[in-house]
Amino acid sequence: MFQPPRCPNHRCPRHLDPTPRFFVRRGSYRALCRAHPIPRFKCKTCGRGFSRQTFRADYRDHRPSLNVKLLELLASGVGLRQSSRMLGLSRHCTELKARKIARHLRRLNLNLRGPLPQGAVLQLDELETYEGRRNTRPLSVPVLIEAKSRFMIWAESAPIRPRGRMTAARERAIAADEARYGRRRDLSRRSVERTLRRGAELAEGLRTVTLSTDEKSTYPKVARKVFGRARLCHERTNSRLPRETWNPLFPINHTEAMARDLMGRLRRDSWLVSKKRRYLDLGLALWMAWRNLVRRRFNTDEESPAELLGFVPRRLTEWELLSWRQDWGRRSVHPLARRGESVERWSRAVA
Ligand SMILES: [Zn+2]
Repeated sequence: MFQPPRCPNHRCPRHLDPTPRFFVRRGSYRALCRAHPIPRFKCKTCGRGFSRQTFRADYRDHRPSLNVKLLELLASGVGLRQSSRMLGLSRHCTELKARKIARHLRRLNLNLRGPLPQGAVLQLDELETYEGRRNTRPLSVPVLIEAKSRFMIWAESAPIRPRGRMTAARERAIAADEARYGRRRDLSRRSVERTLRRGAELAEGLRTVTLSTDEKSTYPKVARKVFGRARLCHERTNSRLPRETWNPLFPINHTEAMARDLMGRLRRDSWLVSKKRRYLDLGLALWMAWRNLVRRRFNTDEESPAELLGFVPRRLTEWELLSWRQDWGRRSVHPLARRGESVERWSRAVA
């Protein structure tokens, strides 16, 4: 039977320090969208009433039954407008749902990771896309993966300066953009460093950190800064080599190609555009969680990337991905928990 993991009132002492019997059961209620009654509880310390639903990721959602379908569509390269048509939702409602799901999956993906096993290989690359307008607002997206399992550790977007072939029309467009938004900054280095730090969080136990990248001149310095000179083994490959399977950077190139195919907004020559880069970041969070936890590593595999690294015991379903709220860090309920055990407790029990 479901045990509430904590009092949801964050001003209550039982929120951070729940005692085994901090609550009393208070019957149940029936919801139109659920087949079974939902148990209600009351905190003995602060008196706040809550239910099992308070701990679900679809807490307070309208049409919660469409969440899984929407996640599947968004992880299959379908855009927001087309998803809204297919689900019979308004565009605005679809956007809000997608953002809530993405923020939830961002937390889930961070909560369910642990230290990398010895022998892990990190690969970093940057892909280019844009926000709003292709010829004036380019973005760089550093992507960091563990190469053997294809686990996506991090990806985020950063503005870069427009470059490449300039025509008179393009220069006019850039000038108009600068008059409106100010000079476009180049934040790609900062973003590469932040991405590598996400890897460093998982690589603390590794004796040597193997990082492979292309020959971009700024990488060695940032990598040494993040991982320390002593532990780092930095392999660099010329990015002009053909992108075949024998190319040492094939795993990261392949991951990027997959993301471009299955995230509509990264596709080239598409009508789907990220208007603001923060929405691209949410899209990346959604896709990363799906790639790491749901999708098999290769089509011939049974295991997901997260499973291969030992972060979860099996592949998760989309429904499990969207099960329990994840906004209490490792104290959130584990998506595979049966009785409301936290990620921390559940992972320890399995190990
Ligand atoms: Zn309480």
